Amino acid sequence: MRKLIAGNWKMNGLASSLAEIEALKGITDHAACDIVVCPPLTLVEKAVERVRGSGIAIGAQDCHARTSGAYTGDVSAEMLAEIGARFVILGHSERRSAYRETDGAVAAKAVAVHETRLTSIICVGETRAERDEGRAIEVVRAQLEASIPNTATSSNTVIAYEPVWAIGTGLVPTLEQIEEMHSSIRQALEKRLGEEGRDVRILYGGSVKASNARAIFGVRNVDGALVGGASLKASEFAGIISAAV
Ligand code: PEP
Repeated sequence: MRKLIAGNWKMNGLASSLAEIEALKGITDHAACDIVVCPPLTLVEKAVERVRGSGIAIGAQDCHARTSGAYTGDVSAEMLAEIGARFVILGHSERRSAYRETDGAVAAKAVAVHETRLTSIICVGETRAERDEGRAIEVVRAQLEASIPNTATSSNTVIAYEPVWAIGTGLVPTLEQIEEMHSSIRQALEKRLGEEGRDVRILYGGSVKASNARAIFGVRNVDGALVGGASLKASEFAGIISAAV
């Protein structure tokens, strides 16, 4: 399966940072895998202009489930599509914890994303306590079941497995733990979507760097990565992209 390398800039970056996205155009490897960068909302339209014609896609980090209305501060999938975004990250653990986003809310947002013909990157992952209690597989299965809407297909949905304890900490699960989880996610996708489930890309996310990416990409059912901190600098992100091809 063609790998997808997605960068999540979180709340980082001003207009001067767009050079880091533009620099990715110089990576000859990018034709062999799909690349998406999700900068903060203020940079989405400008980033789209900078990468035009390159094959690099630009995404957003969240959206509202409704198309329009009295939702101060929110942005709809349709608005994101209008400015050229093609992907939307949904249910990132930072949003699940800081804004109490539930699986149901994530599923409703994913429907809006799919109806707008954008691709959702739906994030799931267990906490440290849940893993220590031996419940990681069960927790992620339940999140998948309730966060993936019936509109999901292999072309409009990507799953990102991101153990909460590995995000921004420098900690990474063992390759065996990643393989076990990704295989469980694949089974759940096949059960839910039938044959389509085989083609849904499952990304690993959590402290991916150029130095550990190749080993992670060698794990069965790892179809790419969702990268936070290491996506902010083109040189480091480029090292991860090279590891995927
Ligand atoms: C993320 O925020 O999705 C993430 C994986 O962050 P980091 O790569 O910095 O751990």
